[in-house]
Amino acid sequence: MIYMDHNATAPLDKRVLDKMMPFLTDVYSNPSSVYRFAQESKKGVEDARGFVAQLLGAATDEITFTSGGTESDNTAIKGIALMYRDKGNHIITSKIEHHAVLHACEFLEKQGFEVTYLDVDEYGVVDLEQLKKTIKDETTLVSIMHANNEVGTIEPIKEIADICRDKKVYFHTDAVQTVGKIKIDVKDLGVDLLSLSAHKFYGPKGVGALYVKKGVKVLPLLHGGGHEKGKRSGTENVAGIVGLGEAARLASEEQEAQEKRIAALRDKLQTGITEKIPEIKINGHPEQRLTNTLNFCIRHIEGESILINLDFEDICASSGSACTSGSLEPSHVLLAMGIPAEVAHGSLWLSLGKQNTEAQVDKVLEVLPPIVEKLRQMSPFWQHKSR
Ligand code: PLP
Repeated sequence: MIYMDHNATAPLDKRVLDKMMPFLTDVYSNPSSVYRFAQESKKGVEDARGFVAQLLGAATDEITFTSGGTESDNTAIKGIALMYRDKGNHIITSKIEHHAVLHACEFLEKQGFEVTYLDVDEYGVVDLEQLKKTIKDETTLVSIMHANNEVGTIEPIKEIADICRDKKVYFHTDAVQTVGKIKIDVKDLGVDLLSLSAHKFYGPKGVGALYVKKGVKVLPLLHGGGHEKGKRSGTENVAGIVGLGEAARLASEEQEAQEKRIAALRDKLQTGITEKIPEIKINGHPEQRLTNTLNFCIRHIEGESILINLDFEDICASSGSACTSGSLEPSHVLLAMGIPAEVAHGSLWLSLGKQNTEAQVDKVLEVLPPIVEKLRQMSPFWQHKSR
């Protein structure tokens, strides 16, 4: 199998599993208990907090463990909106965010909040002038993703943070696609809150973290036993947290070298596809883009049909379309970038990871062009165009 869908999830690193195993078997104590046996679980959790903090350039007490990117995003957005409701009820985000952000914002709109969804340019970069004009006295939070999961465009986070600081507005970034892939320093970026998820960088699924800068208050979503210093109640997912910690530790050591190696593979794939398949449109920013991500539109055919044909060849990829209520909706990200719906329907999205090899890239370059050719021969749009 050739797996090129790492932005959806990455395989669990064997070394991460090894670190987790004792906490799934012998070390089953509840970290909140008082006896010495509980201290072993507690140490596992606190060591992990240290590794995550180190990866982000944060302090350990600025890290709260969650059940993943979705919970971190929801906590940041609803938690700030509700905490500072007396100050104002206006939130700003962008049109290309993950649904964990967009749907949290839509929920707040139903609760009486006002949300502005910023436009992006043809590369998926947020409009900073529009951001400056949109911030008003009632604005309490701006939430803009660090890199987009579909097209890989990296947003100008430092500039956005500067704007927010000037206007005294909190700034959250969804860094689910960047943590473990590119170097991140929360102080250097200037963000107040940052979301991450373990399974995007070779950790386990169902665990993540939220960085909250010292002094920033977030209303908790979950109430209960007051775990995580009252910020997120619920007995800790100890094995998952230990796995996240180990994934973070490995990323601190290996991420830079991997980034370079994967970039070379992605570039080879991009060049090959552009040369071998006519009428291709590469999506995302030419330079400010995750080095593992390649998203392109293949005109006159459907992304879903390409995926099925690739699956027959044991190649796992993605397309921006989401199957909702029986109809194939084109990606909201590509539409926001001004790509017409009929072109967006033909999108294919490959995201590489550390297990991919040059031989696999060669295989995709061998298999994909004939699939496209075959589908185009069956496409009425292609037939019409060739007439
Ligand atoms: N944010 C982004 C940008 C993502 O890509 C994802 C997952 O695809 C999430 C949030 C949600 O993360 P999780 O799957 O850990 O809930």
